Amino acid sequence: MKEFAHKEGKPRCHCGVFGVFGHPEASVICYYGLQALQHRGQEAAGIVTSEWLEDKNKWRFNIQKGVGLVSDVFKDEKILREVLKGNSAIGHNRYSTTGSADNKSNIQPFVVNYKSGNLALGHNGNLTNYRSLRHKLQNEGTIFQSTSDSEILLHLAARSKHEDQILQIKEALDYVDGAYSIVMLTDESLIAARDSHGFRPLALGKVDGAYVVASETCAFDIIGAEYIRDIAPGEIVVIDRDVIATGEVKSLWISKRSPQVHHCIFEFVYFSRPDSKIFGINVDRVRRKLGKLLADIDPVIPQSPEDKVVIISVPDSSNTCTLGYVTESNKKGRNIRLELGLIRSHYVGRTFIQPQENHREIKVKMKYNTVKGVLNGRKVVIVDDSIVRGTTSKQLVKLIKEAGPKEVHFRVSCPPIKFPCYYGMDFPSSEELIANRFNGDIDAVRKELGVDSLSYLPIEKLLASAPTDDGRNYCTACFDGNYPVAIDPEASKNENDQ
Ligand code: SF4
Repeated sequence: MKEFAHKEGKPRCHCGVFGVFGHPEASVICYYGLQALQHRGQEAAGIVTSEWLEDKNKWRFNIQKGVGLVSDVFKDEKILREVLKGNSAIGHNRYSTTGSADNKSNIQPFVVNYKSGNLALGHNGNLTNYRSLRHKLQNEGTIFQSTSDSEILLHLAARSKHEDQILQIKEALDYVDGAYSIVMLTDESLIAARDSHGFRPLALGKVDGAYVVASETCAFDIIGAEYIRDIAPGEIVVIDRDVIATGEVKSLWISKRSPQVHHCIFEFVYFSRPDSKIFGINVDRVRRKLGKLLADIDPVIPQSPEDKVVIISVPDSSNTCTLGYVTESNKKGRNIRLELGLIRSHYVGRTFIQPQENHREIKVKMKYNTVKGVLNGRKVVIVDDSIVRGTTSKQLVKLIKEAGPKEVHFRVSCPPIKFPCYYGMDFPSSEELIANRFNGDIDAVRKELGVDSLSYLPIEKLLASAPTDDGRNYCTACFDGNYPVAIDPEASKNENDQ
């Protein structure tokens, strides 16, 4: 994750993963799953299937990967039906960072053929100690095919002295630190594993007698799968023919266990879809709660019947939070109105920028437009999920001001982001984060954005929005700098990968 690109001013996650075992249409199921997970990575996609070749008496892995959306990479149905044959599959959606976008060797799933057979991997997260491991392996002669941290898991498994492939994979996972929710495919099994902090989500489900795993449960809904449970932090789940026959999922545990779980709280704020259940909690519920709690922070209250206050969301990511905000405001009799003041285009194409033009402004205008009639002469409260660099927010405010509002107030459903993420979310370096550029001075950020007031949701209210009944904890490092997993000193360098 080490080079950062905020092409649209929002943090990006690196990936979405999906796996299926024991389904006659595994590739099609995987395709639909990846479609539902498209929001987790839009720059490349891939599917690998395992097929038994009766005439050759051996297993074969079939692979299709490419740059673009899932619908671009798999636009020819024949690829799914005639190339990607087999009853098991894994798939991956990838978001790549600057410079590596065109590096096709970084597109997952990665596949190797080695002494124990075929092995494929799809990874969501970031391995924090991979640089030191990579240097060690390179010094010992390992040749890497990509610049991704994920590839190291395949090399570590292949070097293991264990005969059993599952134990090889366990050994590989015991070497790495950081964040991973992974799906792996061997000739005859599907493996799903999650780091012991449980940074990224990973859920297990069932459809038509087959087992499925996915980054988010919205991928189950599209294929009619039933959610069974999450893969537990530190758990390695193995699905094979025995599991299909007995219904008893096999699991083992990585040896390096964290005493405390640290789910990424930002998955609730921005990244996961509101129709998903992650970490055992409905995202919609948490996001509404964020809005409800935000509504009580520095509320904008009409001063007279003529004083009209409208609330608008920055679609689509802050829609649910905004609903919570409005519900709470009206419950408290604040007489404010929800309006669709910003319209988002879902069909943003290329920009053709002249050197003298403001690239950011054109990008924002291509993506958003205002409904001027509902903003003109009103006090406008914008609810957004986060402010990262602040460049897009500033352009959005400028756009809204062109509609002639009386005042503009900005509300953010998380605390100021002050620290980079090393666990799979693509935040820029500290220097580029607006909260850091102004040394945490909220009023200076307010002035920079050009709004009448600016408020963030405090960290304790953010945590209160997603309570867990079993004492599980959250990672909040990008807000408070408390990194639950030590960072490889090399990790903060601007080396590009994944
Ligand atoms: S640093 Fe922030 S984005 Fe990264 S895992 Fe922690 S909470 Fe999530």
